[in-house]
Amino acid sequence: MSRHFDAIIIGTGQAGPSLAARFAAAGMTVAIIERHKFGGTCVNTGCIPTKTLVASAYAAHVARRGAEYGFVGNGDVRVDMKRVKARKDEVSGRSNKGVEEWLLGLKNCTVIQGHARFQSPHTVVVNDEVLQADKVFINVGGRASVPAMPGIHEAPFLTNSSMMDIDFLPEHLVIVGGSYVGLEFGQMYRRFGSEVTIVEKGPRPIGREDEDVSDAVREILEMEGIGIRTNAKCISLSKRDSRIAVGMECDEGPPEVVGTHVLLAVGRTPNTDDLGLDRAGVATDQRGYIIVDDQLQTNVPGIWALGDCNGRGAFTHTSYNDYEIVADNLLDSAHRRVSDRIQAYALFTDPPLGRCGMTDAEVRKSGRAALVTKLPMSAVNRAVEKGETQGFIKISVDAETKHIMGAAILGIGGDEVVHVLLDVMYARAPYTVVQRAMHIHPTVAEYLPTVFSKLEPFP
Ligand SMILES: Cc1cc2nc3c(=O)[nH]c(=O)nc-3n(C[C@H](O)[C@H](O)[C@H](O)COP(=O)(O)OP(=O)(O)OC[C@H]3O[C@@H](n4cnc5c(N)ncnc54)[C@H](O)[C@@H]3O)c2cc1C
Repeated sequence: MSRHFDAIIIGTGQAGPSLAARFAAAGMTVAIIERHKFGGTCVNTGCIPTKTLVASAYAAHVARRGAEYGFVGNGDVRVDMKRVKARKDEVSGRSNKGVEEWLLGLKNCTVIQGHARFQSPHTVVVNDEVLQADKVFINVGGRASVPAMPGIHEAPFLTNSSMMDIDFLPEHLVIVGGSYVGLEFGQMYRRFGSEVTIVEKGPRPIGREDEDVSDAVREILEMEGIGIRTNAKCISLSKRDSRIAVGMECDEGPPEVVGTHVLLAVGRTPNTDDLGLDRAGVATDQRGYIIVDDQLQTNVPGIWALGDCNGRGAFTHTSYNDYEIVADNLLDSAHRRVSDRIQAYALFTDPPLGRCGMTDAEVRKSGRAALVTKLPMSAVNRAVEKGETQGFIKISVDAETKHIMGAAILGIGGDEVVHVLLDVMYARAPYTVVQRAMHIHPTVAEYLPTVFSKLEPFP
């Protein structure tokens, strides 16, 4: 006996629930399947809990700087990790509950809890129940990668998921991986009071960013007392009594660092290995990402893949944008495409890094004649007033069309201000639109016209 639906959605990450709601509202019958927590990574172990923790860490950091701002607190700020975790659980739990209640309340939508596997292209089995649909949408997300490094089976380690259960202060947290997740956790735990060492195998942290961006972020973290070890070759783990040694054979410094806890933050693996994709005939690339076209259709007609599992983005907003593309195309014949979107994301260290469009390396590779401009945050009044002057604004533009090619705003409000530029890029308008606009004083954004007045040929 099988049940038939118009659409089956596997996973309740950032695309699945909205897709279910939109289809159900359009009168389609929908089954949505979740094997673990409603809301997926962002809600339970990613953006929402980590940004809630970042907020606690920021508050502790500012409290420590009280004397600079003219108030006397107890200089010795100690963090109550049980309370920090409870606050995080409350915020993240509310979101998780919200997604669950939303889905359960949808007319035309059947919510099933369990692990879904394809039996054939249009048949999915969950808890021995057989479901069928002409259209199947895969939104299974990813999990922390656990590489086969020496000692991985002997020494205990944490991932972004198990970090969510921590309600104590690790004495010395060693983070393997100096990319976005590693840096956010690193600064957060340093501010909570842990000793923190970040071990990165590349020559610099956040290696995909421009060198000046990555150097400035490194300097900010090092000034807070975070140890950063780069060029770590052959990373290994080994137990050392109650501690864990992370071997690295770096060019400089001791060949290992011994901490009390290790966090692995070395990338993500798509949850596609136990989905029965072979039975459906859905093709993946060598790393397990589902191959999709510009409208997110897989190689099998009637099967789409959205979110992190398709390798076309690794953010909540890219997953949500995937949902919009698929829903608009199917319901409104909108002809939306993944290639129409402009790269944008943020690193939520403090200060944050807001990024849109191309990096310097990508600008260079484009072969376009480009201009670039850079202004230190110390020149921005609002940053000075707030006593947060680290970082800079950097923007590159096409010399001929005057279109913005890319920007990095590392500094206070950088994650918000970058949207001024992003929206102008979407409007396909020249940078002069921003330059001639009247902005509000005193803000960081009001400096964008000044930044544009200093454009120079790209080096
Ligand atoms: C520590 C961390 C911080 C992050 N911070 C940010 C941030 O600040 N901003 C940002 O934009 N992005 C951030 N991200 C990335 C963001 O969380 C993801 O890009 C986002 O969650 C998109 O996920 P998704 O929709 O692809 O699926 P997910 O959210 O991963 O959800 C997939 C769901 O599918 C379920 N599932 C998997 N397999 C099956 C199966 N076979 N049957 C049934 N259910 C299944 C899973 O249980 C899960 O609930 C962060 C990620 C991490 C790890």
